[in-house]
Amino acid sequence: MKISINSLSMTYPNGKQALQDISLELESPSLVGLLGPNGAGKSTLMKLLVAGLTESAGTILADGAPLRKNETAYKRRLGYLPQSFGLYDELTVERFLEYMAALKGLHDQKKAVQAVLSDVNLEEKRRARIRTLSGGQRQRVGIAQALLGEPRFLIFDEPTVGLDPEERIHFRNLFSRAAQDKLVLLSTHIIEDVQSVCNRLIVIHHGRIRFSGTPQELIRMT
Ligand code: ADP
Ligand code: ADP
Repeated sequence: MKISINSLSMTYPNGKQALQDISLELESPSLVGLLGPNGAGKSTLMKLLVAGLTESAGTILADGAPLRKNETAYKRRLGYLPQSFGLYDELTVERFLEYMAALKGLHDQKKAVQAVLSDVNLEEKRRARIRTLSGGQRQRVGIAQALLGEPRFLIFDEPTVGLDPEERIHFRNLFSRAAQDKLVLLSTHIIEDVQSVCNRLIVIHHGRIRFSGTPQELIRMT
């Protein structure tokens, strides 16, 4: 999977310019950390990559094809965890994931659900109703739905919010494993989440790219 972003800008209908002239190349396998303070434009960039918002200017190519012309095929290769992900509180973990697998059009839904439950280590909670889960467990369900169907490109918006230190370590390992053969993009405002595991960091601030390079290069600069 190769994503090429060229001179991308995005202005919200209220006139707020959230992204300005972003150019980036992302290629799998890679674990890319998107860093920046709240309001920097991280979620906006991710929503454009999920084709959940429309760019004001510029282009996004997925494996050489314009994303907008190729959206359905592209979304099948994509797993996304939005920043505020609504879970269906009354469903069990298993039912919810089966429902998400059906929405994604997966054929063997039981098998797909079993695979992601094991990825996020929630097998013992499969029959628990979502409303009974802790914050960290809910976040794991959100991550599990993104992993359904073995997507080649994973986009996680602030995936470690609400996790305790032990869970953070578990997820760093999970992201590293996923990135062995996929493109994984994760956003955070906490540098410790990304500096040890990501092979590439992108810092954005006020909608512009301020840095793009390895964690070592970023540390040398600061
Ligand atoms: P981050 O994810 O880095 O916190 P966002 O992409 O959510 O940043 O926001 C970037 C900027 O765009 C912020 O100034 C934010 O207030 C603004 N913004 C986000 N969503 C909207 C929206 N729906 N309408 C108007 N402005 C928005
Ligand atoms: P919002 O601005 O309301 O957070 P988003 O643009 O983040 O909306 O996405 C809208 C909804 O579509 C989200 O709830 C998200 O779960 C869903 N969605 C879109 N594309 C995908 C995808 N590839 N994988 C999972 N969910 C997706």
